[in-house]
Amino acid sequence: MRKVYFDHSATTPVRPEVVDEVCTSLKENFGNPTSLHYFGRQVRKDVEAAREKVAAAIGAIPNEIVFTSGGTESDNMAIHGVAMSNKNKGNHIITSAVEHHAVMNTVKALGKEGFTITILPVDKYGMVSVNDVVAAITDKTILITIMHANNEVGTIMPIQEIAKLAYARGIFMHTDAVQSFGKIPVNVNELGVDLLTISAHKIYGPKGVGALYIRKGTRWKQSLFHGGAQERLRRAGTENVPGITGLGKAAELAMADLPKETEYLKTLRDRLIRQVTTKIDRVKLTGHPDKRLPNHASFTFEFIEGESMLLSLDMKGIAASSGSACTSGSLEPSHVLLAMGIPHEIAHGSIRITLGRDNTMEDIDYFLEVMPPIVDRLRAMSPLDQETEFASNGGCDACKSSGSCKS
Ligand SMILES: *Cc1c(COP(=O)(O)O)cnc(C)c1O
Repeated sequence: MRKVYFDHSATTPVRPEVVDEVCTSLKENFGNPTSLHYFGRQVRKDVEAAREKVAAAIGAIPNEIVFTSGGTESDNMAIHGVAMSNKNKGNHIITSAVEHHAVMNTVKALGKEGFTITILPVDKYGMVSVNDVVAAITDKTILITIMHANNEVGTIMPIQEIAKLAYARGIFMHTDAVQSFGKIPVNVNELGVDLLTISAHKIYGPKGVGALYIRKGTRWKQSLFHGGAQERLRRAGTENVPGITGLGKAAELAMADLPKETEYLKTLRDRLIRQVTTKIDRVKLTGHPDKRLPNHASFTFEFIEGESMLLSLDMKGIAASSGSACTSGSLEPSHVLLAMGIPHEIAHGSIRITLGRDNTMEDIDYFLEVMPPIVDRLRAMSPLDQETEFASNGGCDACKSSGSCKS
């Protein structure tokens, strides 16, 4: 059966050039980069070469790059580090309602430790309003953390404007650029941010490695971990050298291919969105129509469970994902879709198609061929399709019984 991978926001296949880089590192250079002898020095060179590549890809200087275990650690490290080292200036942190859990749960944890948190709402496209940021800033604000592009709906946030405000008020600005890096230009100086998160496995690199950009002069606490002096005291622990060299290679390739790849992905995405929204009824694009990632399409289908669509697609060899975490186990629907004002019974019917460099127009056409009959079949089976009382009844049975996701 044909296999089509449409879940590049979850992770990407590793590019062959990156595999080679990682293998070379594993096979030939095993030294500890902190060691002073020949073996150590060779590996140190590889790590620093990777640092230069990552720095160049985002317009940073190499010393501003700290290698981490991925996007989650970078987000934790950025937020925790700024909060802890600026406590004497204030205790207020601003974020948005649509952040990745790596940001959202870190900020919430700080809320339990005496920090005051403002979670900004978003509009129907999943966009934060710059005016809301202005209104939320107080004398106590020390950090604004808002993602560059949303993983569930692809919306690109006005980071440049928000960072300008933060700068004028002496507030540190962090952005999670895990989804945008490698797909649209990400330059720390153009964006004007102080801290920025990236992850290798979202850009055709290996899992378990990422980086945090920390602008020179940023008041930021030392390592989250207690340990050695690695990464200039910013991240203790022996470096994940194969991962780091893989990240360097992936970043370098991403930059070289960016303009061409963006155009290519947009062509696929635009055809997909146009055809899905015309061929199938009661379907809506979620996220911003133009200010969205070039590889990202996400929809809600009325009266169908996202999970049923995913299983049916999987049987046809298509790997997509749901913007919703509401499985049969009665979990809440996506916090992102709910924050956008999408009623929760509609939010249950969401799917996300995220394209990558290996996808072709044939993949899109295959999807367009198999999807309409799946939707017809599921709607015919759906009790929801007949039950127009559904919304006023308070949602699906699973949610009602758990009481977990009343909208
Ligand atoms: C995937 C992702 C992360 C987490 O990165 P990991 O390297 O998997 O820890 C953080 N933020 C966003 C927006 C992501 O898409």
